[in-house]
Amino acid sequence: MIEAFYKAKSKAGVIMSAKLLEGKVFAAKLREEAGKRAEAIRAKYGVNPGLAVIIVGENPASQVYVRNKHKACTELGFYSEGIEMSENTTREELLAEIDRLNKDEKIHGILVQLPLPKALQPYESEVLEAIDPLKDVDGFHPVNVGRMATGQQSLLPCTPHGCIRMLELADIPMDGANAVVIGRSNIVGKPMMHLLLSRNATVTICHSHTKNLAEITRQADIIVAAVGKPKFVTADMVKPGAAVIDVGINRIAPKKLVGDVDFDAVKEVAGAITPVPGGVGLLTIAMLMQNTVAAAEMQLADK
Ligand code: NDP
Repeated sequence: MIEAFYKAKSKAGVIMSAKLLEGKVFAAKLREEAGKRAEAIRAKYGVNPGLAVIIVGENPASQVYVRNKHKACTELGFYSEGIEMSENTTREELLAEIDRLNKDEKIHGILVQLPLPKALQPYESEVLEAIDPLKDVDGFHPVNVGRMATGQQSLLPCTPHGCIRMLELADIPMDGANAVVIGRSNIVGKPMMHLLLSRNATVTICHSHTKNLAEITRQADIIVAAVGKPKFVTADMVKPGAAVIDVGINRIAPKKLVGDVDFDAVKEVAGAITPVPGGVGLLTIAMLMQNTVAAAEMQLADK
């Protein structure tokens, strides 16, 4: 079963059902796909897909993400390298490490965990652009961004691509749908806009200067919230039956995460909704595994 059903009583006393889009169900499916493609690579080329993750400094949240990425690689039998560099790493040392990995044939995907320590932040674009675009499994290199925007094959950013794959697997129609993306960051909002457009949705992208936001979101068949503000999307902003994808991850207490959507209220109106935690966040690593496989396929086919 790809979905569970949430039963909730609306204020009018009518029983509504919002389809709960559980991240773990979709992530399992996406990992299974990645595993099968990796198997085909091993059979054809005798090579294991390889991922290198560079972490600079000691950000505890980043360390958790990197450990989870390594674990996902191990589960799928990928070759995985975790490169821990000290807080005092220089721009030159980081670029030299990326250069080494660009040339390493065991490595098909390279990811530099963000945020970088303060001293390296001015070089973030330079660092991301130093990664060979064929190994850019985050999909942040301008070559991949440009290829995505012009509809050419490319490595796609993991979180927005994961949202698209979830909509597809959940049979939520995108062709001709009104889709509203709230947020225009380079890592979520803008790629989400391109990917929805590539599925023939009519896309509106909103941001902090947007006027009459609720009027716009009430027209949407699909809402993607990537704002970074707890419970920002309220029930009165949602058309009955709309699909609501919550990308937000907001820590409101040491052990309490919430999304950008007021889940308890919106689930009474929406047709389908992702929870936080347990929603989109789980898809990102699964899509990283898919991108590592896609990168390996492209590199090996070139030989
Ligand atoms: P950014 O802070 O880069 O972007 C936030 C966007 O929201 C901006 O475009 C901003 O507009 C817009 N915004 C802010 N206030 C409003 C408002 N009042 N009305 C309309 N739009 C507004 O965030 P990210 O895109 O990096 O991340 C968004 C959320 O997604 C965060 O909670 C983050 O933690 C989460 N996230 C989750 C991931 C996952 O794996 N699930 C991966 C990446 C991010 P403007 O451009 O005008 O400032």
